[in-house]
Amino acid sequence: MAKRTLTGTSLDTLVSLAKRRGFVFQSSEIYGGLSSVWDYGPVGVELKRNVKDAWWKSMVRERDDVVGIDASILMHPDVWVASGHLDSFTDPLVECRECHKRYRQDQVESDACPNCGGAFGEPRQFNLMFKTFMGPVEDDAAMIYMRPETAQAMFVNFENVQTTSRKKIPFGIAQIGKSFRNEITPGNFTFRTREFEQMEMEFFCEPGTDDEWHDYWMNFSMDWFKSHGIRSEKLILRVHEPDELPHYSKASADVEYEFPWGWGELETISNRTDFDLKAHTEKSGKDLSYFDDQKKERYVPFVVEPAMGADRSALAFLADAYDEEGEGKQQRVVLRFHPDIAPFQVAVLPLSRNDKLTPTARRVYDVLRPHFNTQYDDSQSIGRRYRRQDEIGTPLCVTVDFETVEEDDAVTIRNRDTMEQVRVLVENLETEIRDQLNAMRADCQG
Ligand code: ATP
Repeated sequence: MAKRTLTGTSLDTLVSLAKRRGFVFQSSEIYGGLSSVWDYGPVGVELKRNVKDAWWKSMVRERDDVVGIDASILMHPDVWVASGHLDSFTDPLVECRECHKRYRQDQVESDACPNCGGAFGEPRQFNLMFKTFMGPVEDDAAMIYMRPETAQAMFVNFENVQTTSRKKIPFGIAQIGKSFRNEITPGNFTFRTREFEQMEMEFFCEPGTDDEWHDYWMNFSMDWFKSHGIRSEKLILRVHEPDELPHYSKASADVEYEFPWGWGELETISNRTDFDLKAHTEKSGKDLSYFDDQKKERYVPFVVEPAMGADRSALAFLADAYDEEGEGKQQRVVLRFHPDIAPFQVAVLPLSRNDKLTPTARRVYDVLRPHFNTQYDDSQSIGRRYRRQDEIGTPLCVTVDFETVEEDDAVTIRNRDTMEQVRVLVENLETEIRDQLNAMRADCQG
């Protein structure tokens, strides 16, 4: 594991780095912003895409018992009746009688309004689903919901997917996509927002094997974060108390990360039992049971669900990677991302912007681009460009200098963590970079 100087940093530091380096901007900023809604910039979009790709690779591509889907955000309104979201997907809301600010009751620590000290009115249940209208008529008949979780699409498509993929139980259906929740108190940057992306997988198994699969997926989830570079001392698996369980769950556990403000949930692994398939069978009239042709038995599968937030995970990767080292002029901020999570893997930096260097530097860039996510940067001094790449966590920088052009067709590779430099021939560059990235991957595994 790359040695770190810092154990953590403040949220303000992360927010300002995110803005300065193009990770995350406030939505509609030129209009004063839209509260708790964020846009990923050119660097942040690469980070979040890498998080999603790494999850998809581990969850779908590297397994033969999980397949993917990409379903619509809008679903038939009966889906939310059957799933229980229309009745039960609520948070207790309290409103201050003085300043009328609203809070989630379970998130305020005293009986007085944190804003003005006023007293709260009676709590009421507030449904978190966003409503909208389909078609040109704005009446109740046309009302539909923006999905508050991606999971329901896996349940309502269970039969379509099972028959077309010819998967036998146990198998899973995975999806990455946007979800919407009208959170009463969003906050902590991208941790709790009203529009966010989820990475969810519903694993259908035989009743009676569900506890075992629940253990399996809890371990899988913890290992996934660790093997992508999150420090193990910053992660815990917290098992839910019975009174915390949502209406569909028999057992749940959260993977939590120690953010600058304290522990926060990244993922929940729930045993959803046969609740959803049975509920949809009842509401739709379509039998969603499964015939086990080896056992010659029909049953409604149980479901174990790892449900992870892409935005929260990306924030955890950012917070965990943050480090500062050195003093005075030597001081640098460095993001020690795992090479598969780092927004860019390589940067090509000509020593200066110079007509003699540019053609060779562009050639080196073209050699690397098909193989690695590579950035080209020739503005400002080389020292500043190294700092900039450190601040976005690029594992390797390749420098093209006058010797490259005039003498040896060799370049210098600088390692983000050790700052060691090695000189390699351009013809060996791809292999050398691959080897160095593999060494950094192995280092992240501990
Ligand atoms: P919380 O208790 O923090 O409100 P939750 O338990 O309701 O979250 P789940 O329904 O289990 O969340 O959703 C699975 C994952 O989706 C969460 O672990 C989280 O990573 C992500 N997620 C849920 N709500 C939000 C949100 N408002 N903003 C960003 N990510 C979210």
